[in-house]
Formats: sequence, structure tokens, C-alpha cells
Amino acid sequence: MQEQSQRPPLDRRQLMQSTVLGLGAIAWTARVGSAAPQGVVQAKATPYALPPLPYKEDALAPAISANTLGFHYGKHHKTYVDNLNGLLKDTPDLAGLSLEDLIKKTASDTAKAGHFNNAAQVWNHTFYWNSMRPKGGGAPTGKMLELVNASFGDYGKFKEAFLTAAKTQFGSGWVWLVLDGSKLVVDKTGNADTPMARGKKCLLTCDVWEHAYYLDYQNKRPDYVTAFLDSLLNWEFALQMMG
Ligand code: MN
Repeated sequence: MQEQSQRPPLDRRQLMQSTVLGLGAIAWTARVGSAAPQGVVQAKATPYALPPLPYKEDALAPAISANTLGFHYGKHHKTYVDNLNGLLKDTPDLAGLSLEDLIKKTASDTAKAGHFNNAAQVWNHTFYWNSMRPKGGGAPTGKMLELVNASFGDYGKFKEAFLTAAKTQFGSGWVWLVLDGSKLVVDKTGNADTPMARGKKCLLTCDVWEHAYYLDYQNKRPDYVTAFLDSLLNWEFALQMMG
């Protein structure tokens, strides 16, 4: 694993072939060379499409069941895409923007809360699927481990900070690992909000809306987030997002 983190950046062909990153790699490939690796989940302008999952619906079981993933992706994520495309039919001035630009443009415009909420939920969910992988989780290696240690003290303290953020997010929302300058920071947002809207560099996210875990864990959000951290976290994706 150590040598993996020291590999040179993937070239275009390797990115295209990457199965771990799935759609993200393909989307990013179109913009490779950009200084904004967050574009990994940048979708083309309207009508926006539901991006394919980077793995099969049963690939994250037992931490997240195929049932949960099927509803979450096929119903919730798809509905945000459909709602957004519906809203944009009546607001042609906002059509044609990249998803990220649309989110930033509507973030502080209360009259466009519907646009912001649905657009941010489309972006957040794509980022969430890529933040997980089968047989992921646990402490990272190489450069990411060094960053985790420098930012939190050690992996255990990072895990504690992430879990605390998940437990203390009142109601629906998201927990994030964000790069702030040269340090990693745990952040949390309510409802559809995303640190990306304020230009922050997101590395990983965990959906803590009840629809993300209720079928598998009922009300036990900490158990779900613990499983996310222990067996799903995709540190390779975080490394890619660092650029
Ligand atoms: Mn969700």
C-alpha cells in the first residue's frame, strides 16, 4: 500500500480504465489538467444525467445493503436530478451552467433555494458514492496517513472527530473531510448544504440523512458511520481529490 501512494499521477488512459473511481474518473478525464480536481463529479450542463454508480448496488454489503443502495441511488439521487431538470425548464437563465457553477451561483440566493437544494444534493450524492468502495475503510497509508496524523494526531482521533460530527449533526446533513490549507479538517453541513459551495476542497463525505441508513441501522446513526469508516472509506478517492 505504501508504494501505491507514491505512484505518479494516473495518466488519461489509466484514469479511463479506473474502475475504483467509476464515473468520477471519466468525468475528471475530460478535464484532466484542471487545477480543480473537485471537477471529478462535475456533470455536463442541462439536462443533468444521473451518473452511474461506481460499483454494483450489492457491492457495499453488509455495511450498506443492496436494498438501501437501490433506494438511495435509484429513488433519492434520481429524484434530485429529475427535480433539478424540471426547475431549470422554467429558469433558462440558469441552464447551461456546470453543476458546480450552478451550486455556487445559487448558494446565497434564497429565491433559488429549490435549485440549490436539488443541485447540491445531486453533487453531494455523486461525491458520496465515490467516497466509498468495497473493502475500503480503516487507516489510510502513505501521504494520506501522514496528513491524518499531522492534522488530527492519529487515525483514532480522526475517526473520533468524524463520528462526533456525525452524531452532533442535528437532523439531515453531511459529514465531510475537507482540505483547509495544508491540513485536513472534519466539517458538517445541514440538509443539502456542501462546503464546495463556499469554494472549499472536499475530499470525502458521508451522507447522514436517515434515508442513507434507516433500512439497515434504523435510528443507530453512529453504527452506520462506524461501518462507513471501518469498511467503506475510499482513501484513494480522497488522494485523487487533493490533486
Ligand atoms: Mn442521501
